[in-house]
Amino acid sequence: MLKIPKDLVETIKKQGEEGYPFEICGFILGEINYETDERIAKEVFQVENQNKERANDRFEIDPKDYLKVENYADSEGLQIIGIYHTHPDHPDRPSQTDLMFAQPDMSYIIMSINSGEAGNWRSWELKNDHFEEEKVEII
Ligand SMILES: [Zn+2]
Repeated sequence: MLKIPKDLVETIKKQGEEGYPFEICGFILGEINYETDERIAKEVFQVENQNKERANDRFEIDPKDYLKVENYADSEGLQIIGIYHTHPDHPDRPSQTDLMFAQPDMSYIIMSINSGEAGNWRSWELKNDHFEEEKVEII
């Protein structure tokens, strides 16, 4: 389960709308409660979408950005608990490409941006070889 403050959701919406018609992406930083199996979001950190050729329907994260965010999270006493990205004019469901690069024990927020306006969004987690919708609580 993912717990996420409302203002972080608003931030992702804003970034997604500003980035439209391209996919934007970033990291969700926070804490993990292993006893209750909850991820608690504390910050979001946008990184550049490295896929320039198909930025309208693909996203790629530079390993250097990954490292940078990991170091930042360490310094703040936080962990990378997930990744968010937008689907311009597409539903908030993971694509085949999303599945290919997914890792277990992470929250994958996908937000649909329709004609430049933030729409539905959901969080997904990898279960074996497929994505399942994750329960989300706005805090
Ligand atoms: Zn996607």
